[in-house]
Amino acid sequence: MNQRIQKLQAWMKENGIEVSFITSSENVFYLSGFFTNPHERLLGLAVFQQEDPFLVCPGMEVNDVKSSGWNQEIIGYSDIDNPWELVHTSIQKRVNRVRNAAIEKEHMNVERYEHLSALFPDAAFVSAEEKLRKLRMIKDAKELKIIEEACALADYAIEVGCSEIKEGRTELDVLNAVEYALKQKGVTEMSFSTMVLTGANAASPHGNPGSTKIQKGDLVLFDLGVVVDRYCSDITRTVAYGDINDKQKEIYDTVLKAQAAAVQASRPGVTAAEVDLTARRIISDAGYGEYFPHRLGHGLGISVHEYPSMTETNQLVIEEGMVYTIEPGIYVPNVAGVRIEDDIYITADGANVLTKFPKELQIIR
Ligand code: MN
Ligand code: MN
Repeated sequence: MNQRIQKLQAWMKENGIEVSFITSSENVFYLSGFFTNPHERLLGLAVFQQEDPFLVCPGMEVNDVKSSGWNQEIIGYSDIDNPWELVHTSIQKRVNRVRNAAIEKEHMNVERYEHLSALFPDAAFVSAEEKLRKLRMIKDAKELKIIEEACALADYAIEVGCSEIKEGRTELDVLNAVEYALKQKGVTEMSFSTMVLTGANAASPHGNPGSTKIQKGDLVLFDLGVVVDRYCSDITRTVAYGDINDKQKEIYDTVLKAQAAAVQASRPGVTAAEVDLTARRIISDAGYGEYFPHRLGHGLGISVHEYPSMTETNQLVIEEGMVYTIEPGIYVPNVAGVRIEDDIYITADGANVLTKFPKELQIIR
């Protein structure tokens, strides 16, 4: 059995859990190595303390599961089968009584939960999420290598974006050029919808790109990420188109100072809260505290948002092997929106910055 499943099994033994039934694509992938988006169809990985696990999936994907390297039982079902009956039989073959079953409570919907609880009426259902988040939080060397590759492509995307800023171009024009260039490099998926925001639009942390034309004197904010082998990168850079005013510059310099300080503060042994507050204090001291309305960052991996959550109250201790973003921002309506985001990897010595596009203000002429 692979090490990840073994770690889950150890946790199940400690907690008297006879079966974990994992149904999110991300966690099934993390544990089994097989990724699919099953849409409304059932995908599930059943893990037991001792007995062999099995994977249940749409029948048409059985061959893909095999070629992914999964060498345990696969239960394929057709569109006219009832997959829950198959799941029930296969679990009962392995354990005769289920008292505690672990599921992903945040992921499983009510309809599925009702199926499972009808099949195992004596079972108490506990959450598997906290354990899986902790496992996924510490990346191994192989995962790091993939994330590094995803970050290098994100750097490239920003470079393309900067070269596409020209008189008369809209946010969507630049966005299209960036994604076109990435597809030519073989990228098939972005971590989330790419953001190119300019002028007043950039003052919304989660704005939508549209037909706004980029004008001289505007700041342009790029926020994007690239998926490589199921792992995400996530970068934000804010650049100037032509000369910007002193207020915009002051805001940029404040965000940059806060961002760099939080990178510097990131090392094993500090808390997530300390890292967040390192940046937040700099922004507050400059008088922009109320314009930094979100957490400092988030863990990154198979999901674009995972643990650790870098908030000002999270007492979680930073450890070697974590990958997270540092992305302070200041958004002053009608003045400027600036965010700078890096992805970092924690080593024994501190932060290794994976996104490498320059952070000093880039002025596009
Ligand atoms: Mn981002
Ligand atoms: Mn982010």
